[in-house]
Amino acid sequence: MKIKVAILFIIGVLVVAFTVFSVYYYRIGRNDQYDEYILKYSKLEGEPGLKPVDPAIVKAIISVRTNFNPFITGPNGEKGLMSIPEEGVEKFKDYHGEGDFIIVTPENEKKLGYVCPNRHFPDHKKAHELYFRAVNCPVCGRRTVEAIIDPEVNARIGTWYLAYITAYIEENIEGIDGEDLLNFSIFVYLSGLETLFTDIEAQLRSRVKGFENGVPREATIRALKPYLDSVLRVEQVRADIDKIKKEAERFRPRLEKKAHNNRA
Ligand SMILES: [Zn+2]
Repeated sequence: MKIKVAILFIIGVLVVAFTVFSVYYYRIGRNDQYDEYILKYSKLEGEPGLKPVDPAIVKAIISVRTNFNPFITGPNGEKGLMSIPEEGVEKFKDYHGEGDFIIVTPENEKKLGYVCPNRHFPDHKKAHELYFRAVNCPVCGRRTVEAIIDPEVNARIGTWYLAYITAYIEENIEGIDGEDLLNFSIFVYLSGLETLFTDIEAQLRSRVKGFENGVPREATIRALKPYLDSVLRVEQVRADIDKIKKEAERFRPRLEKKAHNNRA
């Protein structure tokens, strides 16, 4: 009897300790390991025409979409930490070529390539950082991974795509700003702009006389705002965006402190 009581007591203590630890861990910066990349690339330095994005929103997108797991592929082929739609990666490549941040060789010109997961260690300085196909790294022997899976590459491309989307919306939807701009940007980022345009075009084709055989691009762009307005009235869509914005506020104080310390 006494043993049973003792065992129950120990289990009770462990449960309480685990709960306290979990709450503590959750509140004080779970998954901070990518903060430096998030802060660095949110600035969009050296990207003419693009404004910085909010690092708290970037971290919240990561938290909500992939829970900080860089190896996740989404249901529509979204890749890595920031759940970047395929067209986001394509768009980035259109604007940058393939390799202004990774070593380009004639073989990898057409592909984003593979990187060693250990490439940030100092002993890798002399190693090629990008490989044409998956190989074992000549320095450490680890299997290389797709570059887009690498958290730093992913943060760079994801923040760029978010900034690109925001700029695109600002430019093409007159007078938009504040919360609307943020809501639209998050939604378009997650879906992919071209994917939405395809959807809008299909709607116009079936509803508008004269568009049966093709929709001019200007008409599709003009329809973007009404389309987004109606999509964002859907309760589930609203809830997903609000969740990201709420997470962002939870991350903001620590990120701002880190950004401040980096400047100091
Ligand atoms: Zn290596």
